[in-house]
Amino acid sequence: MEISKIEVNAYKIPLPEPVEAFAAGVMKAFDLVVCKIINDDGAHGIGYITVHENQGLAIASIIKNSFIPIVLKKDPRLIELLWKEMWKATHYAGRGAPVSFAIAAVDVALWDLKGKCLNEPLWRLLGGCKKEVLAYAGNIDLNFTIEKLLIGASKSLDDGFRSIKMRLGREYLSEDIKRLDAMRTHLPDDIMLMADANEAWRIDQAVIAFKEIEKFNLVWLEEPIKPDDFVSYAHLRSLGKIPIAAGENLHTLSEFNQLINVGGVDFLEPDLTTCGGITPFMKVAKLAEINNLPICSHGVHELHVHLLASCPNASYLEFHAWRIDEFIESPLKVKNGFTQAPELPGHGIIFDFDKLTKFHIG
Ligand SMILES: [Mg+2]
Repeated sequence: MEISKIEVNAYKIPLPEPVEAFAAGVMKAFDLVVCKIINDDGAHGIGYITVHENQGLAIASIIKNSFIPIVLKKDPRLIELLWKEMWKATHYAGRGAPVSFAIAAVDVALWDLKGKCLNEPLWRLLGGCKKEVLAYAGNIDLNFTIEKLLIGASKSLDDGFRSIKMRLGREYLSEDIKRLDAMRTHLPDDIMLMADANEAWRIDQAVIAFKEIEKFNLVWLEEPIKPDDFVSYAHLRSLGKIPIAAGENLHTLSEFNQLINVGGVDFLEPDLTTCGGITPFMKVAKLAEINNLPICSHGVHELHVHLLASCPNASYLEFHAWRIDEFIESPLKVKNGFTQAPELPGHGIIFDFDKLTKFHIG
């Protein structure tokens, strides 16, 4: 068995309306990079990543220039070996994004191919635990008025969510408190609320914010400070005021290990696209399990649903605001706060490439 062909394409997908988070600023579109790996028997696997706009072509280029020569003609079943070779070949310019995004697209395609060859959905192939996965709406709404913020929350409840995340990081903490207050008053008592500051604060600002925000009983407060200031994460967590979530901006297993070892996190939320794919995500999930921590996810929920459905320590799956629903068959649905991992072989995501054509950029 060997890989006979690899196709890579990038698309720019416009968002229905501009959204804002502190670290990223205003977003009007996102890029989608799709990697198709075709086996010599004709079977194929599809991998993809999503990323901020104007970065997809660079990632597609890494796959084309650096990884196709490594992976072509190789046995697709040896995923760990191919992953190690991609990492080693690009370690000097890599050890993180955007190389990790590029490795992720290839890695996901290899896992999808394996699932299709074995006629098993990824969630069972990866261990198989519970196909019902707790989900939350990861709304991106820092630029919304309070009225619009609450309309968005109601829409998420109508869509079946029982847990909602809103953004913090306005110019003044008093604005954030006002928005949190409005949201908590708006939501029924049995609806869970998370908040994401997207690295908005210095450590001294975060200490003050934690005191002010404690009363809202958040499930977690996400990325209050820069993602790699692990010592300050440990300090914030030692205050015991609010559970802390982090992980979407960590790119290496070592970074996850460090954050866990300093005691800086309650809810670990890796993103397979930023950390190099399914292969390292599952290692982070096991690391979390060993340390008695729950595993969550950030982004690409159609893929992460399989990973969380395979983990005994699974917690929340984020439904990210970068949606590809209109370009795939059977998007995930949420009912009473839960979604279900599909039964189709591999990840089960079937793209409508005709619909994507007009957004093709390279
Ligand atoms: Mg976040």
